[in-house]
Amino acid sequence: MKIAAALERIAQALRVALWEQGKQAGLSPIQVQMLVFLASRPAGVRAGDLAREFHLTPATVSETLDALERKKLLYREDDPSDRRAVMVKATRAGRHAGNTSRDWNRVIRQAVASARGDKVAHMLFLMRLIAELQKAGLVTVARMCSSCRYFDGRRPRPGTAGYCRLLEQPLRERDLRVDCPEHQPLRVDS
Ligand code: SF4
Repeated sequence: MKIAAALERIAQALRVALWEQGKQAGLSPIQVQMLVFLASRPAGVRAGDLAREFHLTPATVSETLDALERKKLLYREDDPSDRRAVMVKATRAGRHAGNTSRDWNRVIRQAVASARGDKVAHMLFLMRLIAELQKAGLVTVARMCSSCRYFDGRRPRPGTAGYCRLLEQPLRERDLRVDCPEHQPLRVDS
């Protein structure tokens, strides 16, 4: 229970940091998060993927996108690969706002960097926690090695945690990723 209470305090600190960043930029917390996400994806993102990424309903995503579009921070266009889908892209001003806001959790990262203790063990604990929350449906997207189709959990040699078939290299525990851009979800066989 103490760990759950501690995590709640950390979640509160994250909410405050995000709120402060939004206040400075004239954006709501979810607008900040979406712009940071879009700024790093110049090819655009499907609106449906934003709903999954941020665990929001399509209606809430649509309202947020409308507000950002009115501020000329993003635009929507048809997805050439799927006529029913809509792509969302940040404008130049939106990318600037997203890149400027990318550092919204700097204070938290600094606190993590200066905290003492076995960080690899803590990271492994948090990854297992995220996996459990994903199973419970509270985390919709987690680009971690343990849920990636390229990950082979057989340890190629002592001291490693597994092997990445995409990078073609063994991964030590400290190399395991939490938000890997190359992550591909495990296939669910029918
Ligand atoms: S692609 Fe990324 S998430 Fe997947 S196993 Fe390799 S490092 Fe891990």
